[in-house]
Amino acid sequence: MRKRRVILLGSTGSIGASAIKVAETMPDRMEIVGMAAKRSAAKLAETANRLKPVAVCLVDPTSLEELRSALDYEPIVFTGEEGLTELSTLAGADLVLVAIVGTAGLRPALAAIDCGKDLAIASKEILVMAGEIVMAHARGKGVLVLPVDSEHNAIFQCLEGKRSEQIENLILTASGGPFRQLPAAQLNNVTKTDALQHPTWKMGRKITVDSATLFNKGLEMIEARWLFNVPMNKVQVVIHPQSIVHSMVEFVDGSILAQLSHSDMCFPIQYAVTWPERVPHSLRPLRLAEVSKLEFEEPRYDVFPALNLARKAGESGGVLPAVLNAANEEAVQAFLDDQIPFPEIWRLVHSAIEHHTNLARPCLDDIIRADGEAREFVRSALRTL
Ligand code: NDP
Repeated sequence: MRKRRVILLGSTGSIGASAIKVAETMPDRMEIVGMAAKRSAAKLAETANRLKPVAVCLVDPTSLEELRSALDYEPIVFTGEEGLTELSTLAGADLVLVAIVGTAGLRPALAAIDCGKDLAIASKEILVMAGEIVMAHARGKGVLVLPVDSEHNAIFQCLEGKRSEQIENLILTASGGPFRQLPAAQLNNVTKTDALQHPTWKMGRKITVDSATLFNKGLEMIEARWLFNVPMNKVQVVIHPQSIVHSMVEFVDGSILAQLSHSDMCFPIQYAVTWPERVPHSLRPLRLAEVSKLEFEEPRYDVFPALNLARKAGESGGVLPAVLNAANEEAVQAFLDDQIPFPEIWRLVHSAIEHHTNLARPCLDDIIRADGEAREFVRSALRTL
């Protein structure tokens, strides 16, 4: 029986809370030896005091004193972006769970791979931005990249032991978000409160807005392409409002395998941590007769342009996925700040992609530059609105 010694990046977030729950329910399998947050000092201290990791990191130094005074023991305390990378390479840890919203986890993830640590990745943005580089790096170092995103974890479970040439299609399920059936004309008037009402999942704000625009599914299409090494034309999306089937794999022989459970991120986190074993759980079991009905429908591609934009960026490759991701992050923030109406998120991302000159086979610096340029493009577009 293997016990994972885990560094948890993003410990104060929604995924962080689920990861802590998993660690507390199976202490013989998972020990959190490091945890990091950006600026939620009190929350970081509260969980650190309970779990006693060897080291903690608060990226924003302005709240460091608050953290230190709230800690009731003496862990190693890191700060700043360099601190996040130092934490990720901590001796004695064997798995880094990247659950930071956005792209700040990219450099720490690469540093962890360099030290021979396995990764469990929830932060889809880093695979969208630099999936080819992260996966090549991991292969080169012989470390695992375990998917935590529920759809990719489902595919990972369905694929167990199968070769990629046996895959006909990866079928990502999408709840459709709060506006699945809303007439297109009404989307201009939806508020952030409406967008933050996810029908089936309780998550952080950014990913919840991404679920409403369907950019979440678009990002996941590109994420799947890199995680499972398949071309974009083998990544499909189907709307499944109940969020019980977390994704499926269609094989070349015509069979489709699916993974089902209630929508609780503890399931995929637990599987990533215990893989390749399956262990008894304490989560809510799925009773299909109680669910009674599982529905599937085509996405409304014309109303939700995020899917086609992501497919285009994923097929073009180069720096366009990074541009799509960065432009989306800026646009979502502007929507959450009440600066733009909801459909403007799609328009800004579309313009950023159209405006950008692509670059084939980019290195990490090229990708980071493209990320910065896309953000600046959106910020300057926002200034003229
Ligand atoms: P939250 O917004 O709930 O939490 C984000 C976490 O990241 C917090 O701990 C936050 O710290 C930390 N953080 C933010 N910026 C930085 C930074 N620059 N450096 C270090 N830490 C930072 O997000 P979620 O938990 O919802 O999502 C995390 C990631 O997981 C996202 O990439 C999301 O797409 C992905 N994901 C989430 C799912 C979910 O169910 N929530 C499902 C599948 C994937 P602080 O509190 O101090 O700001």
